[in-house]
Amino acid sequence: MKNKYIFTPGPVKMADDILTIGAKQTPYFRNYEFSKIIFECEKNLLKIVNAPDNSRVLFFTASGTAGMEATVQNLLSCDDETLVINGGGFGQRFVDICNLHKINNINYKVENNNLSDISNLEKYKNIDAILINAHETSIGLLYNLSSVGDFCKRNNILNIVDGISMFVTDELDMKKFNIDALILSSQKGLALPPGISMIVLTPNTISKLQPPTSIYFDFQSYLDDGLRGQTPFTPAVTILLQLHERLKQIIENGIKNEVSKAQKIANYFRKSVEPLPLQLYNEYMPNAMTTLTPSDSKQASTIVNDLDKIYNIIVTPNGGELKDKIFRVSHMGAMTKEYTDILIDALYNYYNIKRKK
Ligand SMILES: *Cc1c(COP(=O)(O)O)cnc(C)c1O
Repeated sequence: MKNKYIFTPGPVKMADDILTIGAKQTPYFRNYEFSKIIFECEKNLLKIVNAPDNSRVLFFTASGTAGMEATVQNLLSCDDETLVINGGGFGQRFVDICNLHKINNINYKVENNNLSDISNLEKYKNIDAILINAHETSIGLLYNLSSVGDFCKRNNILNIVDGISMFVTDELDMKKFNIDALILSSQKGLALPPGISMIVLTPNTISKLQPPTSIYFDFQSYLDDGLRGQTPFTPAVTILLQLHERLKQIIENGIKNEVSKAQKIANYFRKSVEPLPLQLYNEYMPNAMTTLTPSDSKQASTIVNDLDKIYNIIVTPNGGELKDKIFRVSHMGAMTKEYTDILIDALYNYYNIKRKK
């Protein structure tokens, strides 16, 4: 496959040192040496997301959706009433998961609303759990995790957050946002290959686990094996080695600096494209991604195809009703100003407008 410039929300541009780890022989893992890697991954991840004391991390070899489904299976029961925040494709995925597993759910659709004002949620204060994608990646909408977290805490609601597509690029703090269960995965802001999903559980959440309904996704078995730095089944060993390195780097750089780096790049991109006939799709975008809508007669899908054909650049198309209306530009991963300039310059060239630097 041809090498292209990628601005997609997973997979994302990876750094050379991480790629180098991926090129090595996969080592054996049922030994103390590898357990140490898992222990350090757990410790560093808990620190980065500011998890409450005695929280735990489960490492699944699976993509992020498996993390979402496993969390629903292990934390919710048929007697629970769950509110699903549904702002697009990923919110709908939680609805589908609940329906398949017969979890009562209220499908709460949101549009151009980041839930900063949660007065509309008050009527649901007797529910047992909330399922929310911190960043609804299908349109680039970042929810206000602080207000949702306060609502959950006040009403003793289990706050289950899919932070997959805003982790590392936007603030994600379990204590500050009162998050009870946090779902993450490897191929977005962490800038690793796809294949690992991580679930962070607070001690209080661990005390509420449901009886298992799956062998592979039984949280208790991951918790038990995790005590000796192992997973029940063969993990994606190499991605865990890459995760280990990446988490170490984030600790060294400081998560605040990682977030502010992403913020600078997102702002730089948005400012740079202002003179072009492209508008920001909503006002609640994360640092992770920019969603653009053409303000002239061009169709978004045409722009996506042309960028690929003419400039070797992959931006992210939408499907369905939004196909011709929007496209998305990810700022996740080992992004730099120089790499972002490749896309900005291509867009100026495409519109035949001279760029002022
Ligand atoms: C990417 C993503 C996922 C996971 O998708 P997979 O393809 O299963 O890895 C889950 N939630 C959100 C919000 C995402 O952006």
